[in-house]
Amino acid sequence: MTDVTVTLRAIHDLIATTAGLADRNPAEIRLVAVSKTHPVSGISEALAAKQHDFAENYLQEATAKIQTLAGTAAIWHFIGRVQGNKTRAIASLFDWVQTVDRLRIAQRLDNHRSPDQPPLNVCVQVRLSDDPQRPGAPPAEVPDLVTAIEKLPRLRLRGLMCMPPLEADPDNTREHFDRVRTLYDSLRADGHALDTLSMGTTADMAAAIAAGSTMIRVGTAIFGPRR
Ligand SMILES: *Cc1c(COP(=O)(O)O)cnc(C)c1O
Repeated sequence: MTDVTVTLRAIHDLIATTAGLADRNPAEIRLVAVSKTHPVSGISEALAAKQHDFAENYLQEATAKIQTLAGTAAIWHFIGRVQGNKTRAIASLFDWVQTVDRLRIAQRLDNHRSPDQPPLNVCVQVRLSDDPQRPGAPPAEVPDLVTAIEKLPRLRLRGLMCMPPLEADPDNTREHFDRVRTLYDSLRADGHALDTLSMGTTADMAAAIAAGSTMIRVGTAIFGPRR
């Protein structure tokens, strides 16, 4: 067994345990392997172990990997900051974009997604910091953004994504996750057909699962420290 096979197994065990403690079905929690800075060899090992979802932050690095692994079962998630001049490439290469935080970017992705491809899965990134320089839409703006994105035909809005603020005290992480969970629940109660709450990384996946996350994005715990 390779190291990646072993670490993936450990994370699935942790998902099962944490979900059990929270009275949740572990099958509701999708593991996305964050492969940024890690070589294709590690991704191939993960694919061999039936890990299919991968996330990348940098377009140039991702492009090479996606092209190398074309024809495999890999599903690619973009989780970096989306620059307006990169939307054409991102919309054609990726299956998901989790970091949509303004309508202008959603519209560009929609324009650039080819009719030959299935709709692009997107999540709205919610900003939990008061710092306007940080990525993400402020929670108060999320309902209108969700409503507008749902009208774009080449996008399929799946849900919300968040990162706890950098300055957050680890003891308060759970509060941030609960806040996004509440927003997600209220959008669903208002009739929005969302099925994805993407939150939790190596440092805080247990807290995120306890708070209702349906998708965790884990890099370091699978592939080791970034180089
Ligand atoms: C890098 C990154 C992750 C993974 O972080 P780890 O600590 O390596 O698990 C998750 N989400 C986003 C948005 C990232 O940029």
